[in-house]
Amino acid sequence: MSVLIFIDHADGQIKKASFETLTYGADLARQLNVAAEAIILGTVNDDLTTLGKYGVTKVNQVNNEALNTLDAQVYAKVLEEAVKSTGANVVVFSHNQTGKAIASRVAAGLKAGLVAGAVALPDTANGFVVKKSVFSGKAFANVNIASDIKVISLNPNSYKTIAGEGTSSVNQLNIAVPAARVKVTAVNKVSGEVPLTEAEIVVSGGRGLKGPENWGIVEDLAHALHAATACSRPVADSHWRPHHEHVGQTGVQVAPNLYIALGISGAIQHLAGVNRSKTIVVINKDAEAPFFKAADYGIVGDVFEIVPKLTEEIKKL
Ligand code: FAD
Repeated sequence: MSVLIFIDHADGQIKKASFETLTYGADLARQLNVAAEAIILGTVNDDLTTLGKYGVTKVNQVNNEALNTLDAQVYAKVLEEAVKSTGANVVVFSHNQTGKAIASRVAAGLKAGLVAGAVALPDTANGFVVKKSVFSGKAFANVNIASDIKVISLNPNSYKTIAGEGTSSVNQLNIAVPAARVKVTAVNKVSGEVPLTEAEIVVSGGRGLKGPENWGIVEDLAHALHAATACSRPVADSHWRPHHEHVGQTGVQVAPNLYIALGISGAIQHLAGVNRSKTIVVINKDAEAPFFKAADYGIVGDVFEIVPKLTEEIKKL
């Protein structure tokens, strides 16, 4: 019996969401009095023994280059075998793009109950009741998982990552990798300097920017903060910015430490994609803009006056 935590990675780097998932999974294992183990498919540049500081005693690895690129169908099959061979009874994913693609497949393959979008540790005193976010974060549901194997995906930024002391052992799993049904022939990076879903800081522009020719002030601020750029849906619909930058209910959901909204009204559909951000800063010339209700800090004013000054000050730091 163990809790098995999936480690997500790209370009040889472990994704930051995985550190939160490791902490959550290790705490859950402590609560259940079972072992906390991690599983990584493919190879990364990071030293896997250091993951012990998040509370896992063992990192299982399927060291096969074919797994360095994510293929959800292949990953799910390999993970099913990994769960069987490690004897895990709880499997934890991040509810990020990768986790969303794999967790349900793994659960289906193992005939396991799944709670997608968990926000807290399960109540194990009364079954295995997991609190999850529903209706784009507007409400919570408590869901009991009754199956023997349980799968949970954790909403990013729901659990505090804690790194302590400790090292983990690394265990190679000998699992055959099934042939992929699709082959990635090329990857063309289209986003800015920082991938949107991984960014610690996101600078986002709305229709208040008036047109694509004014996006320089958004990019300059993002560059100064080493942030990713994003936008509201009408901005993408008007082809001012590419659709992969569109944040919200029908776009990308982000959970950065800092989300800076420039000239965005804060419609409910936009907030649904950003309301898990740790800190929200809003700059809008309309003091009544709904976004101010969701903001931690707000500036009532013209983005064309404020943003260049803000960027200049940040560059001096
Ligand atoms: P606007 O509503 O036009 O707001 C522009 C803001 O800029 C205003 O608040 C204004 O005061 C401010 N402003 C103007 N000039 C300046 C200036 N010089 N300086 C400072 N502030 C200024 N929207 C999304 O974003 N994401 C989604 O996923 C999404 N999904 C949707 C799904 C459905 C089914 C529907 C019906 C709508 C969806 N929408 C979505 C659209 C959403 O309802 C809003 O229409 C949209 O978010 C508004 O975009 P905006 O804030 O950029 O534009």
